[in-house]
Amino acid sequence: MEFNQYEVNALMFVTKRPPIVMTEGRGMWITDNSGKRYLDFMQGWAVNSLGHAPQCMQDALIAQSRKLINPSPAFYNEPAIELAGLLTANSCFDRVFFTSSGAEANEGAIKLARKFGKLHRNAQGQARHEIITFQNGFHGRTLATMSASGKPGWDTIFAPQVDGFPKAQLNDIASVEALITPTTVAVMLEPVQGEGGVVPATSEFMQALRTLTKERGLLLIVDEVQTGLGRTGALFAYQVSGIEPDIMTLGKGIGGGVPLAALLCQESVACFEPGDQGGTYTGNPLMTAVGAAVTKEILQPYLLQNVRDQGQYLSDKLLEISAQHQLAGERGAGLLRVLKLGADTATQVVDIARDLSPCGLLLNAPKPDLIRFMPTLNVTREEIDLMLDLLSQSLTLAGHKA
Ligand SMILES: *Cc1c(COP(=O)(O)O)cnc(C)c1O
Repeated sequence: MEFNQYEVNALMFVTKRPPIVMTEGRGMWITDNSGKRYLDFMQGWAVNSLGHAPQCMQDALIAQSRKLINPSPAFYNEPAIELAGLLTANSCFDRVFFTSSGAEANEGAIKLARKFGKLHRNAQGQARHEIITFQNGFHGRTLATMSASGKPGWDTIFAPQVDGFPKAQLNDIASVEALITPTTVAVMLEPVQGEGGVVPATSEFMQALRTLTKERGLLLIVDEVQTGLGRTGALFAYQVSGIEPDIMTLGKGIGGGVPLAALLCQESVACFEPGDQGGTYTGNPLMTAVGAAVTKEILQPYLLQNVRDQGQYLSDKLLEISAQHQLAGERGAGLLRVLKLGADTATQVVDIARDLSPCGLLLNAPKPDLIRFMPTLNVTREEIDLMLDLLSQSLTLAGHKA
């Protein structure tokens, strides 16, 4: 039996990791401490929008660290103001609150909705607090966001749950309507369920949700932590449906790899009062300076065009691979896609791909039968072609013969 020294170190055990230590990264490539290189189609779970260590992030970090790292959230700072301006100028939202993680941004969204429901009570004068969320949805790993998530088994791990998150079925408007009660205040969803296996909400469903929530006086919250800032080929995934939500959360890609996330809302919903919301690192200028640099790059027209072009190319090629290896097709949006294996071999394929030599391929298995692809938004056709070659080899080695 192989001994893995890294499993007995001082880091708390929370997940099984391969016995390698990552030391360097550039663009689509990451290198481990033995010098082996990996083509990275995971990019920190759709986090490194511009790849490993892009120049604009290095420059922003260095420049801001020389100027001001932490004035405390008691004061305004320039990068936070700049980034909030960029986000509101390019979305339907008016106000931004920065956090360090997606889960924290979603906690903020939940608190904001509950506060709104306290200020805008029902006909019986009761405060409204229930937020309808979705089966197989994912909103983070704090107690409230785990309760809001619809991941099977998550309702019992840390019971009792935070109350008030009934679960509807994605793309089934009747299932949402059936859950509305006098104390419902909002509906919250991911425009594309990421951890749930890259399952897009249809445009018709998003539009029906907006109509229903407006009619019933409910807020619509979109969790764009995974889909936000270019990942699906639009700047924000909600824009594709032509609707305007009341609240949105961002995370992952907005920081390009540094801990940065955001809660955004329309002016009519911005009801926090002093004491309601805060946090030591909210709007930290070192992180928001990086976020502003990343956001400006993503706002360059060529980049969203690249996501759409390479997303289409990746989709076409995955369908070819699916046909060659007799798999079950693919789905997704932009550069957030899954290959459907039709068998529970995804973990095996991921392990085989990583261990290929001379260079490995990093993939992710959100479900036992799905392989997920989340390359950088500026990925090239050559990088996709090399990935497809390594993927095909891995599929064959895992028993999916061509
Ligand atoms: C990753 C993710 C989160 C949680 O973000 P963290 O930064 O890990 O807390 C929330 N919602 C969605 C849709 C995500 O993909």
